[in-house]
Amino acid sequence: NVATSDTDSAFVVFDRVQKSYDGETLVVKDLNLSIGKGEFLTMLGPSGSGKTTCLMMLAGFETATHGEILLDGRPINNIPPHKRGIGMVFQNYALFPHMTVNENLAFPLEVRGMGKDEREAKVKRALEMVQMGEFGNRRPAQLSGGQQQRIALARALVFDPALVLMDEPLGALDKQLREHMQYEIKHLHENLGITVVYVTHDQSEALTMSDRVAVFDDGIIQQLAPPAELYEQPQNSFVAQFIGENNKLSGKVIALDGDIATVQLDDGETCT
Ligand code: ADP
Repeated sequence: NVATSDTDSAFVVFDRVQKSYDGETLVVKDLNLSIGKGEFLTMLGPSGSGKTTCLMMLAGFETATHGEILLDGRPINNIPPHKRGIGMVFQNYALFPHMTVNENLAFPLEVRGMGKDEREAKVKRALEMVQMGEFGNRRPAQLSGGQQQRIALARALVFDPALVLMDEPLGALDKQLREHMQYEIKHLHENLGITVVYVTHDQSEALTMSDRVAVFDDGIIQQLAPPAELYEQPQNSFVAQFIGENNKLSGKVIALDGDIATVQLDDGETCT
């Protein structure tokens, strides 16, 4: 029941968006993308392919050079970041070190002019959402990396945003914790019914979490599809190679017949 291609019912629309930082090179080239309400959309691609730039434009920290971005049907080019109602979790979007966890979470609510009682209730609920209810009085330095990342997630969710942007939010965590947090983020997405735009260069992360994946290369989307379709029907060699990187079989070619290679895998099996 997720709207995926119908621009009218889309929650986020990039309409022919271009971005240049130097007035010359386009780092985002004529981007058209509609994201449905409640969808988990991942921008996947190598470093420098324009993913973060797209999030920054959506968040309001960068302006599109051409084209328009719509949120819930409205153009947002002239709306400042804090009025867009968007929650953000970035790898380097650090917590304020001199504030306690409670104060860190209350901050975005204070900025929005919310009264003390309501703030306290929202902060409590957000901390419980990420299973950190006991940690409100600690300072960030008294928390592990994974706990800090949970607090960053709670801070992004505390004002009930309809849209949450995440840019490599798990990049600093070790593999086991990463996988655990992927599960938690997915769980929150499903429970809260929020729309998530997630940026990563990690194929497995994109494929396990997303409703659809937009594969970026050099400022354009090479393919936009649900994870299974990217595996089964990669549209071109870039997508096939990029998605396949995780999935590479190791072995040597033992026969070649036209385009068909017979490969002996390292485990002794052969395949064509
Ligand atoms: P990704 O998120 O896929 O790694 P980015 O959007 O960060 O890609 O970067 C796309 C291109 O834009 C890169 O070539 C990068 O060097 C350039 N770029 C990003 N941010 C800026 C900036 N603030 N000023 C100038 N160039 C930038």
